[in-house]
Amino acid sequence: MLTLQTSTTEISRVGESTAKKLKKLGITTVRDLLFYFPYRYEDFTRLTPIAKLQPGLAANVVGQIELIQNKRSWKKRMNITEALITDGTETLKVIWFNQPFIARNLKIGDKVSLAGKAEDNYGGLMMTSPAYEKINFGQAIHTQGLVPNYHLTANLTHKQVRFLIKQVIDLSPQVVDWLPLDIKRNIKLLDLSQAIKKVHFPKNNSDIKKARDRLAFDELFLIQLQSQLIKKNLSLSRSLEIKFHESETKKFVDSLPFKLTDAQRKAAWEILGDLGKAKPMSRLLEGDVGSGKTMVAIIAMLNAVLNNQQAVLMVPTEILAKQHFDTVCRLLENFNVKVGLVTRSQRMQNYESRIMNHGENAKSKIHNSLFIIHDSQIIIGTHSLIQEDVSFKNLALAVIDEQHRFGVEQRKLLLEHSGSKLVPHLLSMTATPIPRSLALALYGDLDLSIINQMPKERKKIITKIVPEDKRQAAYEFIRAQIKEGRQVFVICPLIDISDKLGVKSIEEEYEKLDKIIFPELAIGKLHGKMKAAEKEKIMREFLDNKIKILVSTSVVEVGVDVPNASVMMIEGADRFGLAQSHQFRGRVGRSVHQSYCFLFTDSQLPQTLNRLQALVDYSSGSELAKLDLKFRGPGEFYGTAQKGFPELKIASLFDYGLMKQARDQAVKLIDEDAGLKKWPTLKEKLGEWEKLVHLE
Ligand code: ADP
Ligand code: MG
Repeated sequence: MLTLQTSTTEISRVGESTAKKLKKLGITTVRDLLFYFPYRYEDFTRLTPIAKLQPGLAANVVGQIELIQNKRSWKKRMNITEALITDGTETLKVIWFNQPFIARNLKIGDKVSLAGKAEDNYGGLMMTSPAYEKINFGQAIHTQGLVPNYHLTANLTHKQVRFLIKQVIDLSPQVVDWLPLDIKRNIKLLDLSQAIKKVHFPKNNSDIKKARDRLAFDELFLIQLQSQLIKKNLSLSRSLEIKFHESETKKFVDSLPFKLTDAQRKAAWEILGDLGKAKPMSRLLEGDVGSGKTMVAIIAMLNAVLNNQQAVLMVPTEILAKQHFDTVCRLLENFNVKVGLVTRSQRMQNYESRIMNHGENAKSKIHNSLFIIHDSQIIIGTHSLIQEDVSFKNLALAVIDEQHRFGVEQRKLLLEHSGSKLVPHLLSMTATPIPRSLALALYGDLDLSIINQMPKERKKIITKIVPEDKRQAAYEFIRAQIKEGRQVFVICPLIDISDKLGVKSIEEEYEKLDKIIFPELAIGKLHGKMKAAEKEKIMREFLDNKIKILVSTSVVEVGVDVPNASVMMIEGADRFGLAQSHQFRGRVGRSVHQSYCFLFTDSQLPQTLNRLQALVDYSSGSELAKLDLKFRGPGEFYGTAQKGFPELKIASLFDYGLMKQARDQAVKLIDEDAGLKKWPTLKEKLGEWEKLVHLE
């Protein structure tokens, strides 16, 4: 008998290797499977006669196989399965790559259903790698109707996942609904079990909408509940008053090589105002890439130090941590501040040049971390700051950079380890352009400061989509820039060689640039699988202008500051979301040099080119956000690739209506005397969800 707790291994036809792959997706039980929601649907509700196929549009075709054979392409080193399918109206050519078994599964004369996009092929039409299904009798489930797509791991197919879910879907009524009945009634939401059923096997678009509304509400509601809880707790707690040290602050600002922008001043002013109160600050600082948020944070941290208190700056990557450490040490050189750095692999202090990350064993590593965390006045670090069992000495201000990379739970953890009964002031920073109304809805517990102005002498970054035949010219341009002393970033989508997708791999790209295109120049590479020490070394050399061209995966996406770099070249640009590409572009144009962003793509699809054109036409993150929203809906802009809001799997940030309802319901529930106590299943769910957020 299957139950929700049954392990996936006990579902029929799940072998050990499938179980392993499922585990990679976080699926170990029947329950996990039910909660593994599709992220989109393909609409194959209309059968299209082959003669009526349109290039670029998703379609479902049913026909008979006239011919099928495997071929080997030596040039591309891959197997190609070719087939001709006819439905009486026309014949369609179909090809699949590296799946020779298809020619064994499908035989001449078989009736098949195909789902995919047709494309132009020398005047005729062709389908590349469509989903296919042999029709023996009855209806197809993988290629007809509304077919869900799931996020997958290597070697697991949508087909397998759908097949598995089909086997367990009848257990969905056993899932306990955690939402109070009142709320469900008020907002007319489906029961959870119904929503689960419909999200996996919708009959029509209205099923999808209702299911998503319910599941999206759950997500938004949990976020709001948590925000409201935090807010309530904050309103009951006290923090240390950080007095504004005017003359020292002025001395610092005057020591900078540039003038602060008005927007920076205003944000700093708002923050200093909050810090002076005994009630904990909880503020989000939003400003486009390159708008100078770090400076504002340093002013706040300096004031904490001047009040004999500690400040911490938490960032998402080791590279960024080291960079901030260097910046802070440099800028505060004349202020006698002890600055510490703690990440998984780095422990340093500026004071007496204490560097301790060599030859440590596990014990001394913890010991050194603790020492730095206790002994420094400003501590900069990554998740390590909250992972090891650390607590600060007297933390009065916590700053979180690129806050959308952290969960709410991590904010909380950081604050809890302050080492005093008082709650530290919290400053979160982000470059993600979310409108004010939305930010307040999402982060209901935060106040908002916005830097809506770039430093004055910044020049607009010139962005171009470069066609293949201009590639050489682009390289020559780059050569000239480097001759003038500048540096260049090259971004590639993936590490592994995956030529069948036509994805530029970083190793390949590095080899090509290093050996063939720019043999005379120093070229470095950077990707997430490298050891931190290696990454740091490469970054150092790039910063010191020893490396001229840095080939990198998306690890440089957030925050990295190399003012001398003037060209950002993005390979496979269509594979990144607009927001992410905008972040990449923000890596250049960070000083007086005219900077350039070159976008490369293999895609010829008009919609792809149009989307990239938006990067050419618009230079501010919020304009891009608006545009992308208009064209493609929120999913893409804040899509999974952007990682912006890891909590949201189903809900869209632009479900304003749903968001407001979630907020109202959360406020109401928390305001009730009993609060969450009255709803144990909801409370349990919130706990579960918090844990998940924390693990992200
Ligand atoms: P972000 O907001 O993306 O975190 P940073 O704080 O990293 O931006 O600042 C980007 C660059 O701009 C840094 O090199 C910084 O020194 C510089 N900068 C900051 N404020 C100003 C300013 N007012 N005028 C000129 N340059 C500035
Ligand atoms: Mg930054």
